[in-house]
Amino acid sequence: MSDCLFCKIVAGAIPSKKVYEDEHILAFHDINPKAPVHVLVIPKIHKATLLELEEADKDAIGGIFLAINRIAREKGVAEDGFRVVANCGKKSGQEVFHIHFHLLGGRSMQWPPG
Ligand code: AMP
Ligand code: ZN
Repeated sequence: MSDCLFCKIVAGAIPSKKVYEDEHILAFHDINPKAPVHVLVIPKIHKATLLELEEADKDAIGGIFLAINRIAREKGVAEDGFRVVANCGKKSGQEVFHIHFHLLGGRSMQWPPG
C-alpha cells in the first residue's frame, strides 16, 4: 500500500468520520478542525498536489465541487457562507501531499488568510 495518509483513509486502513463517498471522491471530517464545520474532500486517486492534475482528472475535480455544494447544504453552512481552501506546496502550508479541499464553515472568516 502507498505510504500516503489519505490513500490509507481511502483504503479504510486508517479510520475516518465519513461525510460523503462516491466512485471518485471521499469526504471526511478533519481530525483537527479549524472551524465548527471542517470537512476534507479528496479524490480517491493519489495525486500529491494540484500541479499533478491532468485533462483526464477534469470530471473527478468537477465532482469534488458538486460534493462540496451538497455537503455545505447538509451541514447547514450554505446560507451563511463558507470557505474552500486548497493548499498547494510548501509555502502554502500543505502538510498532506494528496490533493484535498478544505470546506470550512460555521464561523466568520478573515481575509486575506494568513
Ligand atoms: P493541509 O495542511 O492543507 O495539508 O491539511 C491537512 C489536513 O489534514 C489538516 O487540516 C489536518 O488536520 C488533517 N488531517 C491530518 N491527519 C488526518 C486524519 N487522520 N484524519 C482527518 N484529517 C486529518
Ligand atoms: Zn494518497
